[in-house]
Amino acid sequence: MKENIIQLSIPTPFAVGDVHAYVLKGEAVTLVDCGPMTEEAEHAFVTQLKEHRLSIDDIDQVVLTHHHADHVGLLNLMKLHVRVIGHQLNEPYISQDPVFKQRQVDFMIPFFQQLGVPLRQNECEKMVKQSYTYSCTSHVDEIIKEGDRLSGHEHFFVMETPGHAQSHLSFLDERTGNFIGGDLLLTTISSNPLMEAPYEGEERQKSLLQYKASLNRLLRLPIKTIYPGHGQLITSHHELIEERFKKQEKRANTMYQLLKQKEMTAFHLCRKLFPVMYEEALFLTMSETVGQLDVLLEAGQIEEMPKDGIVYYRAN
Ligand SMILES: [Zn+2]
Repeated sequence: MKENIIQLSIPTPFAVGDVHAYVLKGEAVTLVDCGPMTEEAEHAFVTQLKEHRLSIDDIDQVVLTHHHADHVGLLNLMKLHVRVIGHQLNEPYISQDPVFKQRQVDFMIPFFQQLGVPLRQNECEKMVKQSYTYSCTSHVDEIIKEGDRLSGHEHFFVMETPGHAQSHLSFLDERTGNFIGGDLLLTTISSNPLMEAPYEGEERQKSLLQYKASLNRLLRLPIKTIYPGHGQLITSHHELIEERFKKQEKRANTMYQLLKQKEMTAFHLCRKLFPVMYEEALFLTMSETVGQLDVLLEAGQIEEMPKDGIVYYRAN
């Protein structure tokens, strides 16, 4: 059976604008992602379902592309029988596990110090707390991973596509070339490779390196149309990925040139790269900076020099 993908556009309080949720009607009625927890989002969600002759009661399961608040908040509206399906790393975020929240803060304070960020008191707690403002309190009922098939829509193949989030999954229908891509590739903005606290016994993942690998993987897949988490549908993903790679290379090169002139901390570099944005969007801009530093370190172009608990970088 050929099934349609219904796109819902839900407002968010974030700069990125609307988020898209998708309804798949196959053996099950499945919602992919669901919007932030705000009254405006709830209203838009219910109204648009109605336009497609659906209601919240019709939804059997929700599949998550990743754990960010703009994609999971409205899980709070779902009825008890609705199954939540996604990567296992969604769980601590969507359940708002207090132990994990504390671990996020405990990771961030020394890490930001090491990066040379002058933090005011409680700033890390505030940043962590803020990231949950529009999120939900829910649980993952069914964990899926690379190579699985989506229950109720067996032609959708599950892919792990980390980088923007460690929990990030994408779904490819090989028969049609339809690809539900979450925030992996967007037309409107380049996805941020966000830093995340590592899970127990693990080291910090290098998000930008992962992100580039995920994009490279897309280039080799039989994709026709990408159904993204924000912005327009994508039908020429090769061009867009090349564009993203070029922009990243340019930024890495700018950083390398800066470090050739003088050794710097990650925070100094961040201020040079994002002089207007860095204060307001500290976490995003630092994530981008750390990502590029990981790339340059991996390529052997720069090296780290720890001095009194702060890491300086210099060009080789
Ligand atoms: Zn996201």
